[in-house]
Amino acid sequence: MQRVGMLRPNEILEDREGVLHIDGVSALELAERFDTPLYVMSERRIRNNYRRVYETFSKRYRKVKVYYSAKANTNLSILKILEEEGSCLDAVSPGEVFLALKAGFKPERILYTGTSVRDDELRFLSESGVTINVDSLSQLRRLLKISTPETISVRVNPEVGAGHHEHVVTAGRESKFGIWEEKVVEAYRTALEAGVKHFGIQMHIGSGILSVEPFTVATENLLKIANRVHEEVGIGFEFIDLGGGLGVPYKPEEEELNLDLLAEKVTALYRERVEQYGLGEPTLCVEPGRYIVCDAGVLLTRVNTVKVTPFKRFVGVDAGFNTLIRPAMYGSYHPVVVANRLNEPGEETYTIVGPICESGDILAKDRMLPRIQEGDLIAVLNAGAYGYSMSSQYNSRPRCAEVLVMDGEYALIRERETLHSLLEGQHYPPWLK
Ligand code: PLP
Repeated sequence: MQRVGMLRPNEILEDREGVLHIDGVSALELAERFDTPLYVMSERRIRNNYRRVYETFSKRYRKVKVYYSAKANTNLSILKILEEEGSCLDAVSPGEVFLALKAGFKPERILYTGTSVRDDELRFLSESGVTINVDSLSQLRRLLKISTPETISVRVNPEVGAGHHEHVVTAGRESKFGIWEEKVVEAYRTALEAGVKHFGIQMHIGSGILSVEPFTVATENLLKIANRVHEEVGIGFEFIDLGGGLGVPYKPEEEELNLDLLAEKVTALYRERVEQYGLGEPTLCVEPGRYIVCDAGVLLTRVNTVKVTPFKRFVGVDAGFNTLIRPAMYGSYHPVVVANRLNEPGEETYTIVGPICESGDILAKDRMLPRIQEGDLIAVLNAGAYGYSMSSQYNSRPRCAEVLVMDGEYALIRERETLHSLLEGQHYPPWLK
């Protein structure tokens, strides 16, 4: 497969006579057929990413479960693909549970990790039969008033966090997530006394982590806490969940996460500690979101304007931070190519901006690209995670469509919203009628 410009080799991206193809489908044809902005997701890449994670861990430890973290991309077809693969699912809202059940996940394959959870949500979760991973003592007590689940898991703050941006570090001193060690014992004791029979323990330290060390440090801490609970409360664990956060390189200079090394180090440590602490053989769980869907997704966006100011060369496209918020929200870098000029050399430095009325509406800053003309098609790569799922109707722009490609075939998996979508659920008060 030919390399696409400066990109790393990727099994789904291909340069065919200067035109980007995604798993055998022309980006130009997709844009023509479905209009832009358009998210294009590759089924093959999603399946392969899932299998890579599952196989890399499960060949090193007998009992492994991968929980796809749905927040990265909750399109029903994507959930269905992962359900077919045998994945479990990490949900963080009743909406994600609802969608996962609709996509065919059985409740016993869903772990709910919420924060600041309402009572009616706890009731919904109890009735759904999913396993609940509690984030606070208050949540646990409120849950136990509603029902006594067979199984409960506790999200622990392992005191170390990591991530590509401070907003996505989800453990450590500044974090709102999880229960600190001194309260963890009380949480399990409370659950045991209420009649809970089976237990899990979980952490999630952050997102977009490209090195192995934060995972091993946090795993060590989590297992120490699990041991303390085991000794002081006298319970064992059905599963120990190390969370997600497996990173994907976005910038050309970033190194790929060494998944083999990660699995090797983590499973070795895990095996050693569960044996040392007499914890039996609990299932080892991981919860990747980004790693499964990020590089399976491309955002296609059409060039409306090329505007040259005394200081900048702007390319105005039809996707703004309403469609992909990561650059504006985290200062994230996404690789960008001109999908219809892959065989042309970089000639100018362009800043790619969207149609949103804010100066922060920048998709890509100062990129060396072939000479761009109005009507050209820009492909924003690595857009499959936290892309559509974080999109909005800001500036009253209907959300875009999503397409799934597989081995030369394609299908619309989410319709483009229309202007009428903007009216949905709105009512005038009686005094304005
Ligand atoms: N698990 C939990 C509890 C999370 O909150 C998240 C993301 O925030 C994930 C897993 C997945 O993270 P990532 O997409 O970085 O793998």
